Formats: sequence, structure tokens, C-alpha cells
Amino acid sequence: MSEVLVYVDHVDGAVTKPTTELLTLARRLGEPSAVFVGSAVDAAKETLASFGAEKIYVLDDASLSEYLVAPKAEALSALVAEKSPAAVLLPATTEGKEIGGRLAIRTDSGLITDAVDVEASGDGVATTQSAFAGNFTVSATVTKGTPIVAVKPNSVAPEQAAGAGAVESVSVEISAGAKSAKITDSKPREKTGRPELTEAAIVVSGGRGTSGDFSQVEAFADSLGAAVGASRAAVDSGWMPHAFQVGQTGKTVSPQLYVANGISGAIQHRAGMQTSKTIVAVNKDDEAPIFELVDFGVVGDLKAVLPQATDEVTKRKG
Ligand SMILES: Cc1cc2nc3c(=O)[nH]c(=O)nc-3n(C[C@H](O)[C@H](O)[C@H](O)COP(=O)(O)OP(=O)(O)OC[C@H]3O[C@@H](n4cnc5c(N)ncnc54)[C@H](O)[C@@H]3O)c2cc1C
Repeated sequence: MSEVLVYVDHVDGAVTKPTTELLTLARRLGEPSAVFVGSAVDAAKETLASFGAEKIYVLDDASLSEYLVAPKAEALSALVAEKSPAAVLLPATTEGKEIGGRLAIRTDSGLITDAVDVEASGDGVATTQSAFAGNFTVSATVTKGTPIVAVKPNSVAPEQAAGAGAVESVSVEISAGAKSAKITDSKPREKTGRPELTEAAIVVSGGRGTSGDFSQVEAFADSLGAAVGASRAAVDSGWMPHAFQVGQTGKTVSPQLYVANGISGAIQHRAGMQTSKTIVAVNKDDEAPIFELVDFGVVGDLKAVLPQATDEVTKRKG
């Protein structure tokens, strides 16, 4: 069975959920081999093996973490040349997509970004994507080179399957050109105790309808263990940081549950959340466009609805 390379997204060896999703998908295409960049593989190998990684290629070279994405793309392209994998899967994060784009050019291959499903198809890989703000579902196959696919977080439920997890060190000569942009400083994001927006299984968002008070939105999110998101109107008003913006020019989320509160449902907002599995909206205007795409809609004032919903969730959790 051909190998499928899975780029491991991790923080100091703590493997992110999207990586376990990619390993789950990789098993449909061949034998998953995780590609781990960094020095903390000991912290990661158990998780990678438990989601089916037969091999774990470790690229433990300072230049891969000191510089931006170019060295990682170069290292992956060397692995692709050596292993001739059936496909390369990456998370459809900003970094994952940039690595994928560079890798596609280096290996003269086809790249598909923002896939929401991946299947084996003949000799290749077929994907499903959601396009034009979720109004179209597109099936695509890579017809040239090694299929490189960036998959949206939350597209599949991660399933465990024991893999051998054999660790193999790989060293790759990185070109001077790839080292032309260097990371000069980094600091951990301030912890909110909430999940990362793009990875969260539940996202509770607020818009202009909050009038700047996100406390009910945040309390409801916390009762569900959800991430908090916001419309552009809310972040442009300075009510929430820009990193919380969901939409065309913000983050793309695809959680199991998306709850939009006081958000009208403009096309640019939909573009970032329409692939959510279940969509719920609270809006006091029963003609708000958001109601066109919801699975469940509540017509009402979020300031009255959300506290009741929060109380009910808290009560049921016991
Ligand atoms: C190039 C471009 C890119 C853009 N990118 C994005 C993007 O990435 N993300 C994004 O979100 N937008 C984006 N926008 C902006 C987008 O067009 C909308 O202006 C924006 O999404 C509106 O935000 P909103 O729904 O919070 O506000 P509004 O459209 O003002 O809607 C507020 C809603 O709240 C409801 N409401 C008011 N009070 C209450 C209450 N007490 N309880 C319940 N409901 C209430 C109202 O009925 C209304 O439906 C972009 C626009 C452009 C031109």
C-alpha cells in the first residue's frame, strides 16, 4: 500500500485535532506516514501512532522552525521525491495552505485547498469542496503529480486505529533562498481557556446585534465549551479582536455546531461558516438572511434568549 504523508500540526509536541483528522482520512488513501517538524516528537508519537501513523518522519532541524514556511515546503518536497507518496495531506490553516502551495510548485503537482472530504479514486484522490459561500459542492481530482490536499479542520471525526509509529529521522539540506524570511520573535497567544476558533467543534458568534456587549455570547459559549467568533461589523467596531472574525476576510470555520447571534447573514459572513454541520441563529428580525441557511432559528432578542439557553445547558450538564 502506498504511503500518504500527513503534515503534523503541533505546538511543542502537542498534536492538534486537525492532525488526527488528517490521519483518519489518510487511512482511506493508503498507509499514513506523519511528517513531524521539530524536536518534541516524544510528546507526539503516541498520539500519532494511535491514529494510525505507521511511520513518523522527524525533521529536527533548527532552520525549519527558525524560518517561515519555505524551508518546510522544501523539506516536504524532498520527502515527496524520495518516498513517492500517494498523496500529501495538510491542515487547511494559513500555514498548511502556504506550505501546500509552495510544495505543489516545487513538485509540479496539483493542489486542492479547503477540501471537506477526501476519497481514493482510481489511481488518484478525489475531494469534495464547498465553494461560493457554500452554495455549490464541488468534486475535484488532482490530475498531475502528487495530490496535495489541504483539508478543513472538523471535516471528519477523528477515529483511532493503531499504527506502528516507527520514528525515522530525516535530514534535508535547506537552500539559502528558503531562509530569506526569519522569525525574529514569537510569544504564546493569551490563553482564554476556550478552544481555537478554526478547530473548535462548536462556535458561538456575535454580531452587531450584541450592541458591543459580548457577555451573553461568551457565557453561552462557555456553557458549551465552544469558541467565540464575531462578524466583521463587531470586530470593526472594536468589540472583539480581529482574530475572532469569521468570514470571507476572516477565519473559515466548519464546526459541528455554529450559533450566530445578532448576525444578519451577509454573504461575506456566510463564506466563513456555511459548511458548519448544524447552524443555529438567534435574531430579532424574522426576515434576516441568516434564517435562509439555518437548521434551527430563534426569532428573539439575544439578550433574552442566550441567558435562558445558557441556564438550560448548565442545568442539563448538572
Ligand atoms: C470585501 C468584504 C469582505 C467582508 N468580509 C466579512 C467577513 O469576513 N465577515 C463578516 O462577518 N462580514 C464581512 N463583511 C461585512 C458584511 O458584508 C456585513 O457588513 C457584516 O457581516 C454585518 O455584520 P452583522 O451581521 O454583525 O451586522 P448587521 O448586518 O448590522 O446585522 C445585525 C443583525 O443583528 C440583529 N439584531 C440586532 N439587535 C439584536 C438583538 N438584540 N438580538 C438579536 N438580533 C439582533 C439584526 O436584526 C441584524 O440582522 C465583508 C464585507 C466586504 C465588502
